[in-house]
Amino acid sequence: MSRYVGPSCRLCKAEGLKLFLKGDRCYSAKCAVTKREAGADKKRRGGMRSKVSEYGIRLREKQKLRRFYGMTERQFLRIYQIALKQPGQTGHNFLQLLERRLDNVVYRLGFATSRKQARQLVTHGHFLVNGKKVDIPSYLVDADDLIAATEKSREMTLIKDNTEVAAAKSTPQWLELHSDKVEGKVVTLPTRDQIDAPVTEQLVVEFYAR
Ligand code: SF4
Repeated sequence: MSRYVGPSCRLCKAEGLKLFLKGDRCYSAKCAVTKREAGADKKRRGGMRSKVSEYGIRLREKQKLRRFYGMTERQFLRIYQIALKQPGQTGHNFLQLLERRLDNVVYRLGFATSRKQARQLVTHGHFLVNGKKVDIPSYLVDADDLIAATEKSREMTLIKDNTEVAAAKSTPQWLELHSDKVEGKVVTLPTRDQIDAPVTEQLVVEFYAR
């Protein structure tokens, strides 16, 4: 299945929650979900909701998670299959693998305002992992890895501005941002409580296990 190229906000509206797909707009009053929550769509939501099947609940949860990370079904399934082969809880392994993707880490460190933007920056070769250029967004980082903008990219206005904003915000506990050098370190792999994915991952596992 190819990547969704329609309006990002439509995906959030379909899931009924913020998936943070549009950078700064997601934190503003212009966000469609925020507007809806404020009652703008009250009238439209007034009708009776039909009962959702068990399958439907699991499907929605899977879609929600896939869209949150902005992945195609094929990429998403491939990561799930890796998680399945790892020891421990599949749901936790799955989320941890999703978080370890280089595009996600670039976003989490604040070098990009959305995963989509992070993916573009990685693809265009703006980042190094342990000193080597990596332009594959699905590259999985490990504990102790160092992610840095290339010397040239450190001067890029977009990355500079994003990093400045990120320096004033908090970074996820499992990462360490060195904003002055436009680099970040993976201190440790994330635990479940350090991953803010808005899903019940067990339902996603049950979807694929059906
Ligand atoms: Fe649009 Fe972002 Fe709000 Fe989602 S969270 S509706 S992508 S502005």
